[in-house]
Amino acid sequence: MPETIFDKIIRREIPADIVFEDEHVLAFRDIAPKAPVHVLFIPKTPIATLNDANPAQAELLGRLILAAAGWAKAQGFAENGYRVVMNCNGDGGQTVFHIHLHLLAGRAMAWPPG
Ligand code: AMP
Repeated sequence: MPETIFDKIIRREIPADIVFEDEHVLAFRDIAPKAPVHVLFIPKTPIATLNDANPAQAELLGRLILAAAGWAKAQGFAENGYRVVMNCNGDGGQTVFHIHLHLLAGRAMAWPPG
């Protein structure tokens, strides 16, 4: 798959406001936040879209979600609540083709999303 800007963030070639990292997952603040808290959780192993994920990557996908939930708890807003979203392809609104979980918090979210 072609490189994305997120590969450069993983390699520290471009700056990002990194808030969490472990062996498998990196999380950094979205450059164009849509909520008071807007963090992207990405796997260090790139997967272009959710359509490209395979069963061998189930653990990695689980790590992504658990990293977001763990960070929300550590930050103290988990009880108030938050939203996690993964956009897929054009109709989903995906613009960067390295899967990422958006964690949005700090305000009440509307439903349905636009
Ligand atoms: P999506 O539209 O779901 O693919 O989300 C891509 C997200 O990446 C958008 O919310 C962008 O604002 C964000 N983004 C793009 N470039 C950067 C960057 N260099 N640092 C942080 N966030 C970025």
